[in-house]
Amino acid sequence: MATAVLALQGAFAEHEARLAELGEKTFELRSPEDLARSFDRLVLPGGESTVQGRLHEELGMLGPLRERIVDGMPVLATCAGLILLAQRLAAHDDKGTPRLATMDVTVERNAYGRQLGSFHAVAEVAGVGRDVPMTFIRAPRVVDAGPKAQVLARVNGDAVAVRQGVQLGLAFHPELDQDLRLHQLFLSL
Ligand code: GLN
Repeated sequence: MATAVLALQGAFAEHEARLAELGEKTFELRSPEDLARSFDRLVLPGGESTVQGRLHEELGMLGPLRERIVDGMPVLATCAGLILLAQRLAAHDDKGTPRLATMDVTVERNAYGRQLGSFHAVAEVAGVGRDVPMTFIRAPRVVDAGPKAQVLARVNGDAVAVRQGVQLGLAFHPELDQDLRLHQLFLSL
């Protein structure tokens, strides 16, 4: 089996590289035809969630992927990917952009400002370990995690890693650092 990496837009190549380092087979999911290929995991990369959501919807991929996630397919969603997974957006962000909406969290987009929005942090992730490097790029913040979602890490009090069953949502970009532990966690789900 393989991991499908959504490759409509954004930072997907780095995820493929990290997963290859762990010996995982990947392919790029670009069109509805790709949904017929055999895969049992999904990566939703960072990028621009509004663009990604619209493309997903136009291509008719949102519904089929949502069904597979609800049926229990493991997902690693980073940054814009986390926004696509969130069931709720902060009121000022919610412009009705189509999303997968399978994770019981409320997310605020560009939560650290648009200009000074990029920074690096190191934090402990529950079940993963200490000193996990975290690169934030115009990142979202999880403002509320519902009872189904479990917060795995916080930076300055903000939830930045959330897990709901086999869905793993990260506000940062683990694929941009050399630490493979979060991709390892994803492959273990
Ligand atoms: N700011 C982007 C959004 O709102 C996310 C940024 C990222 O994925 N690095 O979609």
